[in-house]
Amino acid sequence: MEYFRLNILSAGGYVPGEQPQGGKYVKLNTNENPYPPSPKVIEAIVREAGESLRKYPDPTAAAARQVISSLFGVESRQVICGNGSDELLTMIIRATLEPGDALATADPTYSLYETLAELQGARLEAHPCDADFATPIASLSASKAPLVIIANPNAPTGLSTPPELLREVARSIPGILLVDEAYADFADSNALELARSEPNVLVMRTLSKSYSLAGLRFGFMIGAAGLIEQLMKVKDSYNIDRLTIAGAAAAIADQQWMLANVARVRAERERLSKALGEMGFTVLPSQANFVLARPPQGDAENLYQRLKSEHILVRYFHKPRIDQHLRITIGTAEENDALLTALVKLMSAG
Ligand code: PMP
Repeated sequence: MEYFRLNILSAGGYVPGEQPQGGKYVKLNTNENPYPPSPKVIEAIVREAGESLRKYPDPTAAAARQVISSLFGVESRQVICGNGSDELLTMIIRATLEPGDALATADPTYSLYETLAELQGARLEAHPCDADFATPIASLSASKAPLVIIANPNAPTGLSTPPELLREVARSIPGILLVDEAYADFADSNALELARSEPNVLVMRTLSKSYSLAGLRFGFMIGAAGLIEQLMKVKDSYNIDRLTIAGAAAAIADQQWMLANVARVRAERERLSKALGEMGFTVLPSQANFVLARPPQGDAENLYQRLKSEHILVRYFHKPRIDQHLRITIGTAEENDALLTALVKLMSAG
């Protein structure tokens, strides 16, 4: 007999970006923040790392929930915390999709949505982005799917969608609209207001990017209390450990630190985009901490491989529409310079 459900056996599983263990790499492939997290985060974790670990953590991550609700002007019961936003994606998909139901997304977008839908036995309803990669608002608005997920800014394009257009989708669909705002702190606009005002909108954030805490694993979702109440039933009882709750609360409380790092990333994003443009790359106007860029001679895969042999990691996707592009995370000024220098060398070598 087969031990596993058929859709598990047939699933490909999510393939994350490489995390090299040895060697020295300029790592511009997984959209981590190149600057360190707030020292207050480390202090809070060290303070918590004591005898209290004997006891279970608060099941709702109350201390972090409190900081989030006061920062965003919502009630605590409008917030749910997850072990990274990836866990929150698992929860919403488990909670809303019956086997055979559709998950509506733009294409291209974050590929984990499809992987999770597959594991649930649901199917992906992919709405192709416009020729300029803009989110297909009209087509998504017509979806009858119980769950629509839009990444804002989108990954891997970095393009942002105006909140009025997202509101249009929310008001047109019968299902829930989840706006995945993993990169919104790097953008000029966001959809947070929709989570406060629209009954079927959830907005999701993570500490992995703007707060420099990909290693801590903390994300949160904001929306109507009635939506959060149902999601709470799906959550593991103690999904966030004591150290993470303490660190996350401290990180979110230190807005000044996060905003200073965001400003540095945005400045480097503009500089790198311009420099790549001058080298003949087509660079999408990014609102995130990465850029999607098409090399002048095409053959992005070859360039990706050659950069790797120079110990510079960027992300290449073997997928229609984006297989002639590289997704490049914004690094420090030194890392971005190393990338530009390597590109000049490789491209002049032909
Ligand atoms: N959403 C998007 C669009 C992402 O790119 C990522 C990071 N890969 C995530 C969510 C997951 O972030 P986290 O580290 O919070 O699980």
